[in-house]
Amino acid sequence: MLRKRLAIRIEGTVQGVGFRPFIYRIAQERGLSGWVLNDSEGVRIEVEGAQHTLDDFGAAIRAELPPLASISCLAAVDIPLVAEPGFSIALSAQSALKTAQIPPDSYVCPDCLAELLDPNNRRFRYPFINCTNCGPRYSIVSGVPYDRSFTTMVDFPMCASCLGEYGDPASRRFHAQPNACADCGPTLSLHDQAGTQLEGAQPLAAAIGLLKRGEVLALKGLGGFHLAVDPQNPEAVARLRARKLRDEKPFALMARDIAAAETFVQINPLEKRLLESVERPVVLLEKRTEQQLICVNTAPNNRYLGVMLPYTPLHYLLLEDFPALIMTSGNQSDEPISYADADAFLRLKGIADGFLCHNRRIQTRTDDSIIRVLAGEPLMLRRSRGYVPRAVKLPHAQPSVLAVGAELKNTICLTSADRATLSQHIGDLKNQAVLDSLQQAAEHLQQLLATRPQLVIHDLHPDYASTSVAQQMADLPQLAVQHHHAHLASCLADNGRDEKAIGVIFDGVGLGSDGHIWGGEFLLGDFAGFERVGHLAELAMPGGDAATREPWRMALSLLHAAYADDLPELAVLDTIAAGDKRLLLQMIEKGINSPLTSSCGRLFDAVAALAGLSQRVSYEGQAALELEMCLEHDLQLEPYTFSLFDDGQGIIVDPTTMVRELVADLQQGRGAGAISGRFHIGLAEAILRVCLKLREEHGALPVALSGGVFQNVFLTEKLNLLLAGADFEVLRHRQVPPNDGGLSLGQAAIGGCYLRNRTR
Ligand code: ZN
Ligand code: ZN
Ligand code: FE
Repeated sequence: MLRKRLAIRIEGTVQGVGFRPFIYRIAQERGLSGWVLNDSEGVRIEVEGAQHTLDDFGAAIRAELPPLASISCLAAVDIPLVAEPGFSIALSAQSALKTAQIPPDSYVCPDCLAELLDPNNRRFRYPFINCTNCGPRYSIVSGVPYDRSFTTMVDFPMCASCLGEYGDPASRRFHAQPNACADCGPTLSLHDQAGTQLEGAQPLAAAIGLLKRGEVLALKGLGGFHLAVDPQNPEAVARLRARKLRDEKPFALMARDIAAAETFVQINPLEKRLLESVERPVVLLEKRTEQQLICVNTAPNNRYLGVMLPYTPLHYLLLEDFPALIMTSGNQSDEPISYADADAFLRLKGIADGFLCHNRRIQTRTDDSIIRVLAGEPLMLRRSRGYVPRAVKLPHAQPSVLAVGAELKNTICLTSADRATLSQHIGDLKNQAVLDSLQQAAEHLQQLLATRPQLVIHDLHPDYASTSVAQQMADLPQLAVQHHHAHLASCLADNGRDEKAIGVIFDGVGLGSDGHIWGGEFLLGDFAGFERVGHLAELAMPGGDAATREPWRMALSLLHAAYADDLPELAVLDTIAAGDKRLLLQMIEKGINSPLTSSCGRLFDAVAALAGLSQRVSYEGQAALELEMCLEHDLQLEPYTFSLFDDGQGIIVDPTTMVRELVADLQQGRGAGAISGRFHIGLAEAILRVCLKLREEHGALPVALSGGVFQNVFLTEKLNLLLAGADFEVLRHRQVPPNDGGLSLGQAAIGGCYLRNRTR
């Protein structure tokens, strides 16, 4: 029988995820000899045995991979035989863990869950149970190498039993850094609304009682505090809304299990897989119309509910008493999520009636991630807990760069060789607290990746807070990147592509290279550069930013674009005071405080307001979302007509005819559902026609869809069908959001290309 020895090197998320015990087990099972160890790049294995057994071993590595592990690269070479007696886990190489990836936070694995509920287990109902296959990671890591001493678990010396498991290669807790039990690990505590600890209370039971009474519970979780209330209690939900100053934005829910979730939302097999995944994101799911369980105020005017499953042992214990709980981020609106106890007591004062805390410190705040299913595939809307800091593989290795994102839904990105690591969701850069967390994230990432960037990339917009943060890094060269170019590059990088594409970048607003406000763009470009080859016709934004908060302003602007002074009589405009209307029209005509924008988001706002939906909004993108939500799925609907013309510099998509058709619909009393449907289909068809024209001129190129508008499922699916039907290759986002949460990836790819070209 042919014997061989292989040297195998594996890179990826392979440390701190039970990889060595896994290799040890599958080698033992097959009677192979050799060893496995961690080193600075990942895991090294030498393994010896019969050829066919080695083949089987190789297959098992991929087939039985531990739930938190992922392999980015596996290489094996034949080496001379050694014939040692058995298989062992060797000591880690000294230079350990320079570039090895820190794993993301994860769910509670089925083995731990079974132990949690087993009265005979020593961790019965212990809310911090974990093992190498599950538990906290990124949120508790303070430095590298990934070792207990560089996590917040350093506060808890292990007891003899835990230490025994930690040192035993056959144990599921072999080198499980957060390993703990009730004798040695973190404990729960209950605090009143002022933050004073209530001694003698049974924290869990008391917290459940509080929720049952309809009160608001602040709950310390994995990446920060949640505010929890009982969604079956409308007064409780109203109380939370009032105290959180959150009028309409939907609240996310945590359901006890799939069966409980199925009573109020519809779940398809892919959605079920996402809900149950180790990442445990919030998944947007269609509400069951007949459901009675969850009160309407949880997500008003929304056809969807954001639902997640429990992901910490504590969640499981809490949810034993509720089919579902509202779990919204523990913050005042606009502020970052609280994660330190003292800070939570301060900032959630007046919101929470009590606090369920624990003494395991959170090192890095991470919000819940949000996903929806689009065209049969997952689409990331917010990439944070569970995914961060997993790297996105770039098409090439590049010099290290730091990209600081834009203004809203901010994330940052640090690259190292061909790996782009995006930060957790940092949020809207509206106040100092959020800016501080951006700066912390920039330092933390550099430390974790042991990388110093050679360039910092920021948005072209001089007034973004992220731009000033970049400019303060005076020791680094700077590169300003146009917003929509970054979106295009983000979509390319997300698909592992480095080539020229047509970018359909439909977005809110971003500063264009001509000083105008862009946001409905057709770009031709790649990482190296771009050309603007078309855009939506520009509309005035009377009052500037006020037009973003008050969609009726955009409605007037759109009508003015089609009718000039001769505005039609429309009932929907009656709610606006005549004086306001006159003033606004004058501003538009004379161009006073009315910057022009080609933003698609603002066009959605205008149509939503005309269709009788929100005249004012309480969060960005609300009008567009409501327009999508009310859409009538009627196959008989005729698209509205957008006309195309060439202004000498590119193709302009003109809404004049569309507006007239929309007004005729309003005058005939057609509802918002039909108007929304016709608008969506019309826009998709207009985009297709532009792409066809661009193909005539520039040849066959893939079409990359990016920008916040492509969170819209109906538009994206319709456009996808149309483009695919015309033989276009469509590139959509896969790993990062199409909105500004994915922007830093594109900035980083552009920055890397800039440095590569400069050195060439
Ligand atoms: Zn586990
Ligand atoms: Zn212990
Ligand atoms: Fe954007």
